[in-house]
Amino acid sequence: MSYKSAEQISEEAKILILEYISHVDDYKTKDRMKIPPQEMPAQDPEIRSHNLSEVALGYTDEQAKIEAMRCLQCVKKNCVDDCPVKIDIPRFIDHIAHGDYEKAISTIKETSLLPSICGRVCPQETQCQQSCTVGKALKNVDKAVAIGRLERFIADWERATGKIVIPDIKPDTGKKVAVVGSGPAGLVVAVDCRREGHHVTVFEAFHKLGGVLRYGIPEFRLPNDIIDKEIETLKAMGVEIRKNFVVGRTRKLIDLIRKDGYDAVFVGTGAGLPLFMGIEGESLIGVFSANEYLTRANLMRAFEKGKADTPIFPSRKVAVLGGGNVAMDSARMAKRLGAEKVYVVYRRTEVEMPARKEEVMHAKEEGIEFLFLQNAKKILGSEDGRVKSLECLRYELGEPDASGRRRPVVIANSEFILDVDTVIVAIGNSSNPLISQTSPEIHVNKYGNILVDETQKTSADRIFAGGDIVLGAATVILAMGEGRRAADSINKMLSEELITASLNSTVN
Ligand code: FAD
Repeated sequence: MSYKSAEQISEEAKILILEYISHVDDYKTKDRMKIPPQEMPAQDPEIRSHNLSEVALGYTDEQAKIEAMRCLQCVKKNCVDDCPVKIDIPRFIDHIAHGDYEKAISTIKETSLLPSICGRVCPQETQCQQSCTVGKALKNVDKAVAIGRLERFIADWERATGKIVIPDIKPDTGKKVAVVGSGPAGLVVAVDCRREGHHVTVFEAFHKLGGVLRYGIPEFRLPNDIIDKEIETLKAMGVEIRKNFVVGRTRKLIDLIRKDGYDAVFVGTGAGLPLFMGIEGESLIGVFSANEYLTRANLMRAFEKGKADTPIFPSRKVAVLGGGNVAMDSARMAKRLGAEKVYVVYRRTEVEMPARKEEVMHAKEEGIEFLFLQNAKKILGSEDGRVKSLECLRYELGEPDASGRRRPVVIANSEFILDVDTVIVAIGNSSNPLISQTSPEIHVNKYGNILVDETQKTSADRIFAGGDIVLGAATVILAMGEGRRAADSINKMLSEELITASLNSTVN
């Protein structure tokens, strides 16, 4: 699809709404199916590839109403079934179509805590939008009702009006909950446990809160002020925050209970251990894990050239190894940090790439070059230990493997040299090992993921876990879902203890 300016999209919507809006209640299915899907306005690719401002600009009021009118209000709500937190999607969309934004945001907030984040980063095309009847009828998931964009629209409306509601907090229970890690899983636990009147402390290793939302996902996809707003809510609720606190180093996990008197602990330490290719040359200067590269750029503000305390290696030509969202983020960040040429090297084809289609499209628009059916064999260095180039191999697709995707098969003697001075390895992350290494009472599987039961309880008494540390590298919404389940279990455990204590005191 060729780039259309935000102004053009907005003008088109202003004309269309005049025709549609009076039919908000009387349009039949066939009329709704004819309403054109609303494109997301975005910054001009040439301009945005040199700045960190958000790429997607969000729907206008008219666009949101038009898109909402495409929803068929199905009796069987497949979209709700496929939403990990079960938002009543048709209901909130109907409120948008009728311009009742307050009811729309309240509907979402019945089940989802961070809609402005999920509306931006959730892979809706493989969740709620995948089963949308409109997309199915039009035989194209990209033409499904844009549920995520509508969620983002309404969450942004709420932020813009300043009508953010601080959740009610029950009277103080005297119970203490420790939350280790401030990613989406930890944030949800902190809010849900605080709501019940427990004292909550969040322990975070970094100097800023948010986990991958802050240090991994770049600002051009998820602006920092959105994360800041969520943290403000947490603070306004009276959650205590301890930054630069590495549980397992600053304090042993078990000591939070034994020595500091916490009644329950939630571990949400994520999957921060980057994987490498295991090829020659990975220790040369100019080779980064995607985690390090993005953390330096996002959290350590390396893009603020001349001001950052930890400036980043200035690259001219960059090869990013991998085909997921992390690879897209790294490639697009490298471009913004000033690289002249950025390649994404991926050993399968575009069809098998796990990255979201939208991210791939944005990367292409920004001039990122994709080298499909190619992969790194070794990284070559200069005499002073810096990356000089990348030796690659060409591949073809064979039979499907265990993942169902066609297996890449190397073509013999197909080596060639790619001229690059930086290599970013973005082939995945595994669980953060510090907690398991320093807490023998916590059982983990062979990948280092913490083992939990259906209530998110670990092998240790009073210790719960959730998010990427349990699932392996997953998604924001799944991490939030696990956090919610863990908070329910913690709240239930503490409430039973309070009831027992009160009965005992009555008897005595
Ligand atoms: P995290 O977000 O990893 O947070 C864990 C927190 O724990 C961190 O702040 C860490 O510093 C802290 N911590 C770790 N160890 C300790 C310790 N010992 N003591 C104290 N604190 C500690 N998902 C999507 O749904 N959509 C996307 O578009 C998307 N893009 C992504 C892009 C990138 C670059 C990356 C890396 C991931 C992306 N993901 C995306 C995945 C998603 O961000 C994660 O699944 C999610 O953040 C996991 O949440 P979490 O709370 O389990 O852990």
